[in-house]
Amino acid sequence: MMKYDMHVHTIYSDGVLKPSQIINMAVSNKINGIAITDHDTTDGIEDAFNFKDKGDLDIIPGIELSATMEGNDIHILGYWIDYRNINLLARLSEIKEVRIERIEKMVKNLYDIARIKIDIDEVLREGNYYTLGRPHIARVLVMHGYADSISDAFKRYLNKNSQIYVEKYKLTPEEAVKIILDANGAPVLAHPGLIDNKELIPKIIEAGVYGIEVYHPKHHPEDVNFAHEYAEMYNLVETGGSDFHSPEDDIIGECTISNHNVIKLKEKIKSVREVF
Ligand SMILES: [Zn+2]
Ligand SMILES: [Zn+2]
Repeated sequence: MMKYDMHVHTIYSDGVLKPSQIINMAVSNKINGIAITDHDTTDGIEDAFNFKDKGDLDIIPGIELSATMEGNDIHILGYWIDYRNINLLARLSEIKEVRIERIEKMVKNLYDIARIKIDIDEVLREGNYYTLGRPHIARVLVMHGYADSISDAFKRYLNKNSQIYVEKYKLTPEEAVKIILDANGAPVLAHPGLIDNKELIPKIIEAGVYGIEVYHPKHHPEDVNFAHEYAEMYNLVETGGSDFHSPEDDIIGECTISNHNVIKLKEKIKSVREVF
């Protein structure tokens, strides 16, 4: 049976390894295929395809989009996306800009409200755009003596009740699914076991996902069971992956699915397209 790890992050989002290093690991772990699913970016895909020593490893171009519903974090994976699609790239750079704008607003609020002037470029240097957030502002505040520690910076300036705080912009699950469908990809609900309010799951599925991530390192047996039940109930393809970020914490191939499920998922893209 061929094994696929359908959930891998690279340094292009918040992972620590380059696509080439990931491919080497996947090959030595005897995995037949991996999906590159970086957060909100397709930048690592080209790099993965260009790597010469990939042997027979099948590489699926993917993405993981962050959405929110009633305050719950919802992640939607997308597979076989057309990663050069102009509209997709425009949408992703919009998401990136909004993230930077949020940082700019908080830096401005720090000055307007607390008369603390820090340099936005210094904050931007602290993290790549995916991980960019309050901890990076906090680090700069500590560096310049405005707070004793990261937690002190949060307590004084950056907590959610502070006037300085700016809400994070996030997609709805419907928007995330649409971005993936518009790029001819297959949308899949990621790690449903990690969603706080499980009652939202049917609503998210109805946003139009083709599959559900049943196998995930953080899923307890009961999470696997309920995800499996939803797959049956809504006729979804069961997927899985390691959600690999770093070799210190994760193993490529820790959770896999068979190539049969990979094919089933890919067929869904075709069957939906044939309707039109
Ligand atoms: Zn996720
Ligand atoms: Zn992930």
